[in-house]
Amino acid sequence: PLPAPQASAEALIDLEAYRENLLRIGHLVGSAELMAVLKADAYGHGMEACARVLPEAGVTSAGVATPAEALTLRRSMAEGSVMCWLTTPADDLAPAIAAGVELSASGIAELDQLADAAGRAGRRASVHLKIDTGMSRAGAPLGLWRDLVRGALSWQDRGRIEVVGIWTHLACADDPTDPRTDRQAVVFDEAVAEARELGADPRWTHLANSAAALSRPDLRRDLVRVGLASYGVSPQPEHRSAASWGLRPVMTVRAVVAQVKRLAAGDHVSYGNSWRADRPTTVALVPVGYADGIPRQLSNRGRAALRGRVHRIIGRVCMDQLVLDLGDSTAERGDVVTLFGAGEAAPSAQEWADAADTIGYDIVSGVRGRIVRRQL
Ligand code: PLP
Repeated sequence: PLPAPQASAEALIDLEAYRENLLRIGHLVGSAELMAVLKADAYGHGMEACARVLPEAGVTSAGVATPAEALTLRRSMAEGSVMCWLTTPADDLAPAIAAGVELSASGIAELDQLADAAGRAGRRASVHLKIDTGMSRAGAPLGLWRDLVRGALSWQDRGRIEVVGIWTHLACADDPTDPRTDRQAVVFDEAVAEARELGADPRWTHLANSAAALSRPDLRRDLVRVGLASYGVSPQPEHRSAASWGLRPVMTVRAVVAQVKRLAAGDHVSYGNSWRADRPTTVALVPVGYADGIPRQLSNRGRAALRGRVHRIIGRVCMDQLVLDLGDSTAERGDVVTLFGAGEAAPSAQEWADAADTIGYDIVSGVRGRIVRRQL
């Protein structure tokens, strides 16, 4: 049972579930190193609180997107390795390098920026070279890969950087039947072999995200970068539930009912009167809306749980509130509605994502506004 609410709307973060999920994933990936992905405030779960759990789960490596995130993370993670993979010329990388943060490079300009910052930091920069194997996001294009490796080795010879990793990111691993994942893996292996021929000797080669880490033992290589699954959301929602891997939701969003009332047949609900009661019914007013990260697409589509039963969101989701149709169920002001997460009859973040035509990542990382985060 969850503790009594302390605010009208809360995102409860079950750190024990996070710890158990990490242990479970660590077990599943065997000898591969598990990098916990904590970017975007740990997908909305709170980066610093999640980071403090890592040692208890035996995890000594974490990944984030930006250098600013990496520096924040370093404060709650003095030991172990922190990697970040998204930099621009506007970033001063010297503080991150001085703090021992590992960085990614996809091109010569990035290498030069890193080497310059390393000189100012008075410390070698640990660098993971990124190859674009088919996502056309970050990473060196195939035609420029050799130049990137040669450039990196030249800076390595001059003592400015150390090539510690070679990596890429998968575009389609959420669909286990998609042949493009295998094609990316082939290109990746060729790039690693080429880099080794040129003299690179990376400690880490990595390409797997949650989906590949859990479903493709052959793609685990030295390290897997796991975000979504660690938060208890399925990375292959059309094929398997999170529970089927033994993972539990870490985030539960709930709110306290502000008002309960009876509607007559023919009454309409919310802006545009898009929902009409075809029978007398009871409705509950829930004090969260799209300004709190509740997708407006859940208007007339989403569901939430109250007193162990699931009920539909009716009418348009407003900026600060939404309405649930309780039918003939009873409820009173002060009851607790579970919007998604753990708890009897509660929809999963994935069910919300499906109803809102988005992805689980978007649902959990989007929680904001007046929903108060509370770690358990
Ligand atoms: N690696 C990179 C480069 C990412 O951007 C992400 C997040 O999208 C991850 C790993 C983790 O992915 P997932 O949350 O699917 O495990």
